[in-house]
Amino acid sequence: MNIIIIGAGHAGGTVAALLRQNGFKGGITLIGEEPHAPYQRPPLSKGWLKGQVAGDGLLLRPRDWYDENGIALKTSTRVVRIEPASRTVVLSTGESLSYDKLVLATGARARKLVLPGSDLKGFLELRTIEDAEALKAWFKPGFRLAIIGGGYVGLEVAASARLLGAEVRVIEREDRLLARVGGPVLSSFFRQVHEDHGVEFRFGVTVEGFEGLDGQVSGVRLAGGELVPCDAVLVGIGAIPNDDLARDSLLVCDDGVVVDGHARTSDPNIFAVGDMTRRPMPLYGRSVRLESVPNALEQGRQAAAAICGTAEPKPETPWFWSDQYDHKLQIAGMIFDVDQTVMRGDPASGKFAVFHLSGARIQAVEAVNAPPEFMMGRQWLASRREIDPGRLEDVSIPIREV
Ligand SMILES: Cc1cc2nc3c(=O)[nH]c(=O)nc-3n(C[C@H](O)[C@H](O)[C@H](O)COP(=O)(O)OP(=O)(O)OC[C@H]3O[C@@H](n4cnc5c(N)ncnc54)[C@H](O)[C@@H]3O)c2cc1C
Repeated sequence: MNIIIIGAGHAGGTVAALLRQNGFKGGITLIGEEPHAPYQRPPLSKGWLKGQVAGDGLLLRPRDWYDENGIALKTSTRVVRIEPASRTVVLSTGESLSYDKLVLATGARARKLVLPGSDLKGFLELRTIEDAEALKAWFKPGFRLAIIGGGYVGLEVAASARLLGAEVRVIEREDRLLARVGGPVLSSFFRQVHEDHGVEFRFGVTVEGFEGLDGQVSGVRLAGGELVPCDAVLVGIGAIPNDDLARDSLLVCDDGVVVDGHARTSDPNIFAVGDMTRRPMPLYGRSVRLESVPNALEQGRQAAAAICGTAEPKPETPWFWSDQYDHKLQIAGMIFDVDQTVMRGDPASGKFAVFHLSGARIQAVEAVNAPPEFMMGRQWLASRREIDPGRLEDVSIPIREV
């Protein structure tokens, strides 16, 4: 049996490794358009940007590992077409390869901002090692960075840039930070943290365009007339799934390739994993598209088990993390169908957790510098255990005894 994996990122690299771990003896070809072996993206906005992680430290596995494990890794190679009827993929080189099972792991790409002036020099995005290198090359004391978007990537870069001495202004369309992923307490906490580190914010504003000087961006023009001065602009306004190949192959898609709980698409010979998928989330009775490493790993396990016919992995609860300055944010679950919010601890102390409940059951926990609360919240989320909100907010009761 021959397996082709399209996309040599976190999810694709994981599937390749797990297939071998599960004892799969057939051919595995892992095809990626980037020039690198699979690597981790989270450090690109954190440790790597600050110079704390060296180049090879990003790799999921050393480059030689693929040869040693009989995995044909083709980098700098793009798949341009899938032909499901003949079970063939066509590469940018013109070569055709045939498969028995195909795994799509093409990830997502940064959403672009197309406005007057966005063709000037000095626009940056952050998805790849090359993007991170371009960004880092700008950082020096006094350098003025405008960041459009107050989500995870924008805020992590803001923190790294401040530590390296840049002036940072973040422009956010909503009236608070992290609006897509977190609740208002979290937003206020991180706003304060960033302001204490000298980041300036503009909230509830629309970007109308960009001004330039000698072809180089020099300012962001906001609706209302304000010009935010800058030497470069980082656009961090979310990612869109790379589901074009899947749509062209007539797989069912809905903002991502639709998969089941075994990472199967609507074609029985094609699986899909990672940021490019829309997956069922039985815990919340809906389907979601997640962009996170834990999701890439979980779906990697699902696909490898389904292909090898080994035991189904246990369903997991979704979780996320972010590091900004010396604060660690961990979120388990998602804020759906919440009717009650319970605070445990005081944000002013820098250590707290916000529990979101539906009735007496936890739907999500946002923990800041509070790993025990995160761990317990995750367990309760999985067990669907009922919790007494009064005991939960009482910090004199250790979290394990709540
Ligand atoms: C700056 C940054 C910080 C992040 N921080 C965190 C974090 O703290 N925690 C967390 O959980 N997650 C974080 N993430 C998200 C996490 O990195 C992604 O969820 C994860 O990389 C998803 O893996 P993936 O394999 O689905 O996609 P990707 O890692 O994007 O890999 C997809 C690969 O497929 C390739 N590809 C696409 N189309 C083709 C084609 N036609 N032919 C060949 N190759 C193709 C792409 O070039 C890419 O290399 C961060 C992401 C970024 C960008």
